[in-house]
Amino acid sequence: MFCIGRKFSLCVGCGGQIHDQYILRVAPNLEWHAACLKCCECQMFLDENCTCFVRDGKTYCKKDYVRYIFKNDIES
Ligand SMILES: [Zn+2]
Ligand SMILES: [Zn+2]
Repeated sequence: MFCIGRKFSLCVGCGGQIHDQYILRVAPNLEWHAACLKCCECQMFLDENCTCFVRDGKTYCKKDYVRYIFKNDIES
C-alpha cells in the first residue's frame, strides 16, 4: 500500500521546500510559502484575503494584473 503522504512542495517564490503547514496554492502546481507570495510589481503581500493573479509565472495583485492586461492590450 502506498503512502500518499505529502511530498514537499517547492516554493515558486524562493525555490525552497515548503515545510510550513500553511501553503498558498494558486494554480494546480504553483505553491508559495505564505511569506513569499507577493505582487511582483508593488511587493504587496498576497494571501487568502487578497486575490492573487498569475501571469507568465509572476504573481500580481488585482490592481497590477488589470494594469498589466490593459497595457498588453494597447501594445498589441
Ligand atoms: Zn518561499
Ligand atoms: Zn501589486
